[in-house]
Amino acid sequence: MSGAGDPSEQPLRHRARALVTGGAGFVGSHLCERLLGAGHGVVSVDNYHTGRLENIAHLQANARFTAVAGDVCERLDVEVDHIYNLACPASPIWYQQDPVGTLKTNVFGAHSVLELAVRRRATALQASTSEVYGVPDQHPQTETYWGHTNPIGPRACYHEGKRCAEAMFFEFHRQRGVPIKVARIFNTYGPRMAMNDGRVVSSFIVQALRAEPITIHGSGEQTRSFCYVDDLVDGLIALMATPDEVTGPVNLGNTEEVSIRELAETVVRLTGTRSGIRHLDPLRDDPHRRQPDIAQARRVLGWRPTTALEAGLLRTIEYFDQLLTDQPPTDQPPA
Ligand code: NAD
Ligand code: UDP
Repeated sequence: MSGAGDPSEQPLRHRARALVTGGAGFVGSHLCERLLGAGHGVVSVDNYHTGRLENIAHLQANARFTAVAGDVCERLDVEVDHIYNLACPASPIWYQQDPVGTLKTNVFGAHSVLELAVRRRATALQASTSEVYGVPDQHPQTETYWGHTNPIGPRACYHEGKRCAEAMFFEFHRQRGVPIKVARIFNTYGPRMAMNDGRVVSSFIVQALRAEPITIHGSGEQTRSFCYVDDLVDGLIALMATPDEVTGPVNLGNTEEVSIRELAETVVRLTGTRSGIRHLDPLRDDPHRRQPDIAQARRVLGWRPTTALEAGLLRTIEYFDQLLTDQPPTDQPPA
C-alpha cells in the first residue's frame, strides 16, 4: 500500500478532477474505479482500440464518471487537475499490429495531454514502461540506467515511442513549467486483461482453463517480475500525490522475479489443468531478464507491492474462469 495516506480521508472539496486516457483498458479501468471510490470526478477518454466498454460498464451509473470516445492525439478539452496518460496498446501483438499508430499515440498523445496540462495548470502523469530499458545489461533495473534498446526493431514502435514521450514530458516540465510525474511500469496483471491479447499471464491462464497447450516462446528461461494491478494503482495514485518537485521517473513493479517456465508451472498447478507445455520460436528482441529496483518508490512514495504472485494469480484465474463460463470468448487477437 502507498504511504501517502488514504485519499478517501481527504475533504471532498480537495478531491481533484482526473482525466484518465485509456480509461477503458485493463489498468485504466481499475484506476478510474479507485479514483471514483476516493471521491474524485473522473473522465475517461478512450478510442476502444484495445480497451472495452465492459471494463467500465459498472462505473457508468456514477454521476462523477464520464466516458468519452476519443483519440488522445486530438485536442483534449476537459476541466481537470490531474491527467493520467495511459492511452497506448500495451501488448506486443497489439502494439505491433499498427506500429505507426502506436508511435503516433505515444508521441502525439503525450503532446496532446501536456498541452491540456498547460491550459488547465494540471499535473500530468505518464504511464511509461520498463521497456525503455530494452534488453537490459543492468540487473535489476534502476531509474538511472539509460537502457539498451534497438531503435529499429519490432518492439521499437512501443519502447522508442515511450522514450520519446518521456522526453516530451521532461521538456514540457523544463520549458513550460508543467508539473509532471513519470512512472516506469513493469509487467502488471490481473482481472480485465484482454483474453486474447497475447500477454503471458492472460494467455497461460486462458490456455490452462481451456486445457490447451501452454505456449512458451523460446526456452522459458527468460524472466519477468509480475505486479498485481491493485498494487500498481496504489503506486500511480501515490505518485500523483507527491509534491511538484517529484517528477520521477519512478519504477513501479513487483520485485519477485520468475522465469516464464516457472510461471507456466505455477499456472498449471493453481488451475489443476491437464495442459502440457508447447515451445514456440523465441521472439525477436525479447528481454532476457527484467526486475525492477524499487528503492526510489519505497523511499519517495512509501510504496511497495503487497500482493504475492500466487495470490494475484488466483484472483486472475477466478476472473477468467467466470468470464469463460459466462461468455465463451469471441474477441480475437489482431490478424
Ligand atoms: P490496455 O491496452 O488494456 O489499455 C490501453 C488503453 O488505451 C485501451 O483502453 C485502448 O483502447 C486505449 N488507447 C489506445 N490508443 C489510444 C488512443 N490513440 N486514444 C485513446 N485511447 C487509446 O493496456 P494496459 O495494460 O491497461 O496499459 C495501460 C498503460 O500502461 C499503457 O500506456 C501501457 O503502455 C502502460 N504499461 C502497462 C504495463 C502492463 O503490464 N499492463 C506495463 C508497462 C506499461
Ligand atoms: N510469452 C510466452 N508465451 C506467451 C506469451 C508470452 O512465452 O504465450 C513470453 C514472452 O516471450 C516474454 C514474456 O512471456 O518473454 C512476457 O511477455 P508479455 O508479452 O506478457 O510481456 P513483455 O514481453 O512485454 O514483457
